[in-house]
Amino acid sequence: MGLRFYNTLSRSIEPFTPAVPGRVSMYTCGPTIWNYAHIGNFRTFLFEDLLRRWLEARGLRVFHVMNLTDVDDRIIKEAGARGLPIREFTEPFARAFFEDRDFLRIRPAHAYPRATDFIAEMIRLVEGLLAKGVAYQGDDRSVYFAIQRFPAYGQLSQLDRRSLKAGASGRVSTDEYDKENAQDFVLWKAARPEDEAVAAAWDAPFGRGRPGWHLECSAMALALLAREGLGEVLDIHAGGVDLIFPHHEDEIAQSCAFTGASHFARVWLHGEFLNVRGTKMSKRFGNITTPRDLKADGVDAGALRLLMFQTHYRQKLDLTDEALAAAREGSRRLGEFDGRLRRATRRTAGTPNAWAEWAGRVAGDVSEALDDDLNAPRAIATLFDAVRDGNRLLDQGLPPGDGEVAEWVRALEVLDVLPSGGGGTTVSHGAGAAAEGAPSDTPPTEPEASENWARAWAAARLTAKGRRDFKEADRIRDLLKAAGWSVRDNKDGTVEVRRV
Ligand code: AMP
Ligand code: ZN
Repeated sequence: MGLRFYNTLSRSIEPFTPAVPGRVSMYTCGPTIWNYAHIGNFRTFLFEDLLRRWLEARGLRVFHVMNLTDVDDRIIKEAGARGLPIREFTEPFARAFFEDRDFLRIRPAHAYPRATDFIAEMIRLVEGLLAKGVAYQGDDRSVYFAIQRFPAYGQLSQLDRRSLKAGASGRVSTDEYDKENAQDFVLWKAARPEDEAVAAAWDAPFGRGRPGWHLECSAMALALLAREGLGEVLDIHAGGVDLIFPHHEDEIAQSCAFTGASHFARVWLHGEFLNVRGTKMSKRFGNITTPRDLKADGVDAGALRLLMFQTHYRQKLDLTDEALAAAREGSRRLGEFDGRLRRATRRTAGTPNAWAEWAGRVAGDVSEALDDDLNAPRAIATLFDAVRDGNRLLDQGLPPGDGEVAEWVRALEVLDVLPSGGGGTTVSHGAGAAAEGAPSDTPPTEPEASENWARAWAAARLTAKGRRDFKEADRIRDLLKAAGWSVRDNKDGTVEVRRV
């Protein structure tokens, strides 16, 4: 059926075709670098990473922009409290964001524009809007967007236009407000002494001041699209659901009023929240966990990615210790099988066996799932089925072909959920090379061969446990015991076999 996404603009799943064949322009709203981004923010960034990777896996050349908001009320307040210019205050948080991104294996965007580097573009945008009569200067010297002058206002958030009263329904100078209270929003805030104190004010023909949050994204997206020769309309714009209103609604209003285009982005994708006991993870609610906290606790990026992708991006996800533990175990299991498969003796070409069907199913089902509005949970379920079936084939002593192993590797590449450091190669390292074929039930008599035999069975037992086949695991333990071997599971996931 081909690639399709749920477009917030139409509230329906639509086939995806970029405006320029083979190329995709994609803008994702980035972090406000006033603090460390939390794992809730990163749920959204990981969903965007999946989106980006799947588009690329589909052969599309993606131009991905993610802004860093480095001027806003919170930044000015915090920088002021520390007596630092905003640029100096935000710098360490920008660096931390990139470190966390790398830890979580998020593919870097092609550009990370910072708002304060695009002030000239923002000023031009405001001038354009003033010239068109859709913006006006208030008596407080700030410049506002007149939502009544833009008939499409409210389309993305399905705002009831009847509720927009004739004439200005009021105006708001903060960046956040709610849908029931749609008002003229600020484009440019007149400078106050506290802004000047932290170097957060710039000269403009309409008065000294600083940009509003929504303006930043419109100006930077349009500037970078132009630089790449990609027109004035994005193929994809994404962010968390909390950005639909007012942020994205306002981005559309400013951009479309300025360019005259009917769209700012043709497809809008929004990811649901990461919650903690049903409440959105947010600094405001004091319930945040950062990727660096998790990393310090020894949580691996593979497990975190698996945790996020096991819930569809449009469903809420509650972060619990149990869910995290299950994801760690799941990632370990996938890694263990990956190691076993990669080490397995390969079949010579031209002798197809059950692996061909196995590989076809993995590749086909993962593709079909991700094509279907990034259904990662379904893709992951396919991977776990493949682990179960693949282990069975290995236990039967059937050798896979190179092409089939490559299909598995490719299917995993987009989700990238294996433990760091090669996963399976370390997990079953008690097993050694003998783990590849299925050992026979009867132990060899020669001592060294016997030890290899025991190690191979110990590895098979670990695999059985990994797929939660405890009956088989117990059978192997008994088999080893009868042959004079004991197995011990270590905490770090390795096994030890000893002669008793
Ligand atoms: P901010 O730094 O607040 O502008 O947020 C950066 C991104 O994180 C935006 O796309 C938000 O929608 C997203 N976001 C914020 N909180 C959460 C959360 N609890 N779960 C998922 N995404 C979130
Ligand atoms: Zn934005």
